[in-house]
Amino acid sequence: MNAGTIPYDAAIVGAGPAGVSCAVWLARLGLQPVLLESGDAVGGLCRSHPFADEWNASLPGATGPEVAANLARSLTQAGVDTRLSSRVERVDAMALAADTLASGFALRVAGLPDPLYARHLVLATGVRARALAQAENTALRTRQAGHCPGGIPAGTASVPQTDGILTGPGSHIVAQDFRNKKIAVLGGGDNAFENALYALEHGARTVRLFARTVRAQRQFVHQFPLDAVTVGDYVVDAQARTVNGQPYDLIMVFYGWEPCTRFAATLNLRRSARGFIATDQATAQTSFPGVYAIGEVAQRQHPCVVTALADGVTAAKAIQARVEAGR
Ligand SMILES: Cc1cc2nc3c(=O)[nH]c(=O)nc-3n(C[C@H](O)[C@H](O)[C@H](O)COP(=O)(O)OP(=O)(O)OC[C@H]3O[C@@H](n4cnc5c(N)ncnc54)[C@H](O)[C@@H]3O)c2cc1C
Repeated sequence: MNAGTIPYDAAIVGAGPAGVSCAVWLARLGLQPVLLESGDAVGGLCRSHPFADEWNASLPGATGPEVAANLARSLTQAGVDTRLSSRVERVDAMALAADTLASGFALRVAGLPDPLYARHLVLATGVRARALAQAENTALRTRQAGHCPGGIPAGTASVPQTDGILTGPGSHIVAQDFRNKKIAVLGGGDNAFENALYALEHGARTVRLFARTVRAQRQFVHQFPLDAVTVGDYVVDAQARTVNGQPYDLIMVFYGWEPCTRFAATLNLRRSARGFIATDQATAQTSFPGVYAIGEVAQRQHPCVVTALADGVTAAKAIQARVEAGR
């Protein structure tokens, strides 16, 4: 392989709003992108929130799945080479020649016998909900490992749900029957309070919220009964499904998010203080030349569809400038 034979200007990993936006813009700018998505459809997290997207002033009333369908339409219109069910398992940087122009990346994609080569790499793999086993320091850690050996597989945006334990927000919460259940909610952020309220409104018998500290916005905290909140340390036994020794029918875990980046471990990318991929504000470039990180994986701005779309444009323009400058 030499620089002239690398087929793609950029490989974008992840077809959520950030990755789609970047791929569409690259195609419009006359470059050759390939978009790789581990799931069987385009849209990322938008596919798993069935509610109206109220953060996007340009699409009043549209739901997450409708936003996802629009993203898929944009890809088709732009003629982007989109590969679904294509989980990227590993990325290696290649130094092809003495000149810096001749850099590139080899991507190992599940199911493909040979690597896929691209001149630039864009990480748009989003986040997954942080699971109980990674955040607790009780016996739980070893017990839960049995459910998900080695943790969550690379490229799995959502956490596998286990019996009686629901992790993170999304469609699995909507699908849950809360009626007459005794529920413990773990976490002190917006998601914990919003989903605790949701369970109460959907027939739960009791909901107790456990928070080491409360960080949620007041609008959510004030709606939830104060006497049903325990603030401070607590002990969870996932197998027995108890919190502080009390049994629950269901434990709901809202411990924040972590970036899906295991496949890019060889690049040793610099992280932000909160563990996301660190990027340059103006270009979305990471600490590795030719590698960009956009959307939630980098948490560059307030995480939502609109900022993810904007991030995609930022990276596409930066890649175009790099190609034109011949670097
Ligand atoms: C319950 C819920 C409700 C929300 N409501 C709204 C809302 O109303 N409005 C709003 O603007 N935002 C909302 N958001 C947030 C919004 O969905 C996200 O900010 C946005 O989807 C982030 O886009 P992204 O492209 O960075 O990542 P994602 O949408 O997470 O996309 C990442 C993609 O990368 C893929 N991937 C991961 N690893 C690999 C790999 N190794 N190989 C190949 N593919 C991989 C994943 O399968 C996924 O498709 C909500 C989120 C949730 C969870």
